[in-house]
Amino acid sequence: MSAAAALARAEAAGVRLVLDAGGAVRMRASVPPSPALLADLRQHREAVAALLLERERAAFYQRAMGEAAQALAAPDPDLAAERAATAAAMAAEARGEHGHPLPAEAHQRDLAGLRGSAMQRPPSWADHDDRPGHGCRCSRCSGRLWWAAQLPSKDCTGIGPGWCCATCHPAPPGAATTEVRT
Ligand SMILES: [Zn+2]
Repeated sequence: MSAAAALARAEAAGVRLVLDAGGAVRMRASVPPSPALLADLRQHREAVAALLLERERAAFYQRAMGEAAQALAAPDPDLAAERAATAAAMAAEARGEHGHPLPAEAHQRDLAGLRGSAMQRPPSWADHDDRPGHGCRCSRCSGRLWWAAQLPSKDCTGIGPGWCCATCHPAPPGAATTEVRT
């Protein structure tokens, strides 16, 4: 018979076994246990003591868990917020939102933002060949009318090469320009 079986048999017979402060097994019974049971318990004394200790430890941790749960359940806005954030993060992780492609909706939003900024042009730029294309907007005033000098001079005395927003940098009166509406 194993220690566990001896312990179970003793408890079934109404014998209560506990550890005293020194770790020794004490027996409490309303009726005296049978000699056979006593012999079994005596034979497995140390193993029975170990089982009882294990049981006490389990009970201790069970109580500690209950106390921790009670402390967590106590009203505390900061703690509640932290727990909610943690739960949300764990739920997001469970949905596979980390390390996975963004949902289509978020992609569309990002793309729209990129497209919007790609269509922006500064109020003026020097590259004459960089003609503003369809949909371009001035980054300062959102204007869509641009002009460039037909005969750009490069000696700083006249109109230089490049393109300008007609609102932010109107062409000098009488200048020969090419206009583009985007
Ligand atoms: Zn402008």
